[in-house]
Amino acid sequence: MIKLGITGGIGSGKSTVSEIFSLCGVPVYIADIESKRLVATSPIIREKLIQLFGDELYDGNVLNKALLASHIFNDKEKLETVNAIIHPEVGKDFNRWLQRHSLCKIVAHEAAILFESGFDKMMDKVVMVYTPLEVRIQRTMLRDNLPREKVVERIQNQMPDEEKLKLSDFVIVNDNTKSLIEQVTTVLEQLDN
Ligand code: ADP
Repeated sequence: MIKLGITGGIGSGKSTVSEIFSLCGVPVYIADIESKRLVATSPIIREKLIQLFGDELYDGNVLNKALLASHIFNDKEKLETVNAIIHPEVGKDFNRWLQRHSLCKIVAHEAAILFESGFDKMMDKVVMVYTPLEVRIQRTMLRDNLPREKVVERIQNQMPDEEKLKLSDFVIVNDNTKSLIEQVTTVLEQLDN
């Protein structure tokens, strides 16, 4: 089995590219969705987050997402502590998911913070979705209905594209000059060889 990491900054088109891999028959584990599910449901994460932030973080079984966000907003150290609680559980969940897909030749793991979280080390190859900055800003403003400053702030909090490019095995350019389907197909052909 080949494990392919899919990464790229906010608004680069990771989800769009993952969708295409999925349509080509490659199951994709979407770390962002699964980690949110785990934060809401995992008793291990729940216990550790309560130790850190107190009982009021959960209302019964329901996580107070706004409260969690307010605790980690602009606090890098807290964010790292929370990530150190969540990432190992995502790793375990991904391993269980891999077992359920053990007959697949290629599987993928999509994460905006693939390198930052260390999940790249679990991958055999990594593909980065690269999109010029201004296009990313425009697409994200439109998708999330956010003002430009907020989008730029989020982009500035992520690893720069140049660093991601150096660490990636393949690059898919999503600026409408090249077909995404063709680029995904090329990556799959190269993985097959
Ligand atoms: P990411 O998951 O990297 O944040 P998305 O896949 O959600 O990015 O793409 C960001 C936005 O841009 C979405 O609204 C998506 O529909 C749009 N988008 C992605 N690729 C293209 C493209 N090639 N042309 C036009 N819009 C695109």
